[in-house]
Amino acid sequence: MLVKKIEIVQIMPCIADAAKIRVIAKADGELGEVLPYLDKLIPTALHSERGGFITYKRGLSIITLHASGEIAMTQIRDNDEAMKILNEIKGKINDAWERRAEIDLSEVKERIQLSPLDLYTYLPKTNCGKCGEKTCMAFAIKVLNEGKKLSDCTVLTEDKYRGAWDTLVSLLESARYEV
Ligand code: SF4
Repeated sequence: MLVKKIEIVQIMPCIADAAKIRVIAKADGELGEVLPYLDKLIPTALHSERGGFITYKRGLSIITLHASGEIAMTQIRDNDEAMKILNEIKGKINDAWERRAEIDLSEVKERIQLSPLDLYTYLPKTNCGKCGEKTCMAFAIKVLNEGKKLSDCTVLTEDKYRGAWDTLVSLLESARYEV
């Protein structure tokens, strides 16, 4: 068994939905070696080798597993749901590790198609115009068309948007955008 325990280390409000929480957890070991196998077993997963993480959608939540063992989850209802999903993740990690000899890593996944809404969900939604666009939605479209960089939204550098920034970077890097 690669991972015996995953513990919650931080709970914050979720930028995407104020009624929900963003959860940071930590596995009791590094995940770098298992990430490529996990990527193959989770159909919606996207693996960023450069970033050292995989990201996947589970309902409305975005779940990111880092090589360091850190796990970030957005749009979680409460502590009970967080624990349930973390148990599920532990099962997936250990399953992928036990089955690694039979998993073909040579198969290349297609580039994911992100929608503007995928990005907009994690943008500040203030329509402040500092990025040169009139609305956050227009900015999301420009980023996907590679006409703007995520860093053009300077509002995202504020401390309260750190989690949103991390999630947006995960989404974009996994979809093979330059961030
Ligand atoms: S700078 Fe950021 S918050 Fe302001 S409009 Fe652009 S994307 Fe939205």
